[in-house]
Amino acid sequence: MNINVREIYLGRIREPCEHCLSLIQKPQIVNRRNAKLVKESMKVFNYTAVRAEDAEGGAHRVKVRWLISRAAGAPNFAMRLFEVEPNGYSPLHNHPWEHEVFILEGEGVVFDGEKETHFNRNDVVFVPRDELHQFKNIGTGTLKFLCLIPHPKE
Ligand SMILES: [Zn+2]
Repeated sequence: MNINVREIYLGRIREPCEHCLSLIQKPQIVNRRNAKLVKESMKVFNYTAVRAEDAEGGAHRVKVRWLISRAAGAPNFAMRLFEVEPNGYSPLHNHPWEHEVFILEGEGVVFDGEKETHFNRNDVVFVPRDELHQFKNIGTGTLKFLCLIPHPKE
């Protein structure tokens, strides 16, 4: 299964969309046995196609887009894009799952309850399970980052 997915991924090609003529990435079917699976499971979309919702749980000036979720057909992991306005922050909290974060834009700090660690665009932040964490925007523009999480175990 993993090998097939990898082959298909490596076989992706760019070609004009038949509807809008812009270049889009299309999977090149290199394994016909999985053709149906590929057609049903792969998607390419602009992140703005997913609605930005107010983040809950004590977040201040934070929006979240659930780019890939269980509802979208991903059974294991979710990819979320956070947009934090200047002076905005997520709540100081912890939970029994990790965060895998990639900073796309802006400048901020992650606070662990005792100290703040600075980060910039293109930095990676790993928050281990159970560790206290809070993200704060300390820059003048929007702080944007991806945060990947496993779905809670049922
Ligand atoms: Zn968290």
